[in-house]
Amino acid sequence: MINFVFIAPPAAGKGTQSKLLVDKYGYNHISTGDLLREEVATKTTLGIQINEIMSSGKLVDDNIVLTLLKNKLSSVLSENKPFIIDGFPRTPNQAEMLTNCFNELNVDNYKVIYMDLDYEEAKKRVLGRLVCSGCGKSYNDMVESLMPKKSGICDSCSSVLSKRSDDTEETFKDRFDTYINNVKPILNYYNDLNKLINIDASKDAEDIFKDIETYVTEVR
Ligand SMILES: [Zn+2]
Repeated sequence: MINFVFIAPPAAGKGTQSKLLVDKYGYNHISTGDLLREEVATKTTLGIQINEIMSSGKLVDDNIVLTLLKNKLSSVLSENKPFIIDGFPRTPNQAEMLTNCFNELNVDNYKVIYMDLDYEEAKKRVLGRLVCSGCGKSYNDMVESLMPKKSGICDSCSSVLSKRSDDTEETFKDRFDTYINNVKPILNYYNDLNKLINIDASKDAEDIFKDIETYVTEVR
């Protein structure tokens, strides 16, 4: 099976798609955020070091993240399981580091999935999101199919719905634009390597999954 590296803007549904791949095809979901947290939790020498860096508000060095990632990849590969990498790379430098890591581990059967979501759709999904204060059910007052029957009230338990995002349209736009500008050189890098797959993430989760599935067993 093909291994994947996931790159996605906010609200594209990366978590949902990862979970579907894990459940249906036995993918190993490798999140660099989780790897860092696990290392801290197990209190290894490196974990203690990472904890100091993180609690001082600094970013953990790329080399540290890569070391953890490489160890995890080695063990996943030895089990002969396909993997999804989530949270790395976030910069062109990290992308090159990942390529080197793949070369060292003889991994060539991978694709980079970019979950393409335009600004308007991402904005609706994030800014429109409502959650029920009673039962936790999610709604969206900017997406027709997800609106509550009565504005501001939960269909199931009649509790009050509250906004999930603290963003204003302006701060969301800044966040989104920053993301897109940072991600562009990474996408170009993978496009040049012939590894990039563009997935239309404005579709429903099931349809996105169908698109991704066509690549799972793709013969190179
Ligand atoms: Zn409710």
